[in-house]
Amino acid sequence: MQTDIKNNYCGITIKSNYIYIVSILKIAKLGHPVLLKKSTEISKFSSDALKKIVYDMSETMIDYNGIGLAAPQVHLSKRIIIFRNPDIDEEHKIQITPLINPVFEPIGDEKEDDWEGCLSIPGMQGLVSRYKKIKYYGYDLEGKKITNEAQGLHAKVVQHEIDHLDGVLYTSRLSNKNAFGFEKEIVDFWKNEQNRK
Ligand SMILES: [Zn+2]
Repeated sequence: MQTDIKNNYCGITIKSNYIYIVSILKIAKLGHPVLLKKSTEISKFSSDALKKIVYDMSETMIDYNGIGLAAPQVHLSKRIIIFRNPDIDEEHKIQITPLINPVFEPIGDEKEDDWEGCLSIPGMQGLVSRYKKIKYYGYDLEGKKITNEAQGLHAKVVQHEIDHLDGVLYTSRLSNKNAFGFEKEIVDFWKNEQNRK
C-alpha cells in the first residue's frame, strides 16, 4: 500500500510501500554499554529506514519531554542526533532538527558551567562545563549539508548530543565532581544556594 505521511514537527515526508507506524523506543540507561561505544557514520541517506529511525527518535524525545536525543540512547550505535532548537518559539509548532554525522568546533575558547540532565540518567542533574559558542556541521535526512552557529542552550544541547556519539556522558564533564545528584537535592542544596549569593 502506498502511504504518504507528513510529520508536521520534523518536516519529514515518508513515502513507502508499508504503512508507517510510529514507535516510542526504549531508552538505554546509565550502565548500558551502548552508551560508552563510539558510533559509526551513516553512509546511506534518503532511505525509509533512516527516516523511520529519526521519526521514532522524535516521537520518543517528545514522549520523554527531552530537548535532545542521540541514537545510542535508543540502542543504535549510529551518528544521528535530534534536538529542539531552544531559540524557536514552540508554542504552536515543535521544531526538531535531525543531524546526521554531526561535528562541532568551538568559536573562541570561552566555556560556561550549566546544569544538565540526560534521558539516560533520569532524575539526576550535573553541573557541566561546555563551550559557550560553537559552529556545527552535519547532514539532513537527504544528505544535504547543514552548517549553523549556536550559543547558549542551543550550543549546549548540540555538544551534549554529539558527546553521546563518542560514548561520552555528561558525568565525565562535571565542572566539579561533587556537583551531581538527584534533581530535588540539586534544587534544594545547589540552585537555591546559588540564588542566595
Ligand atoms: Zn544525554
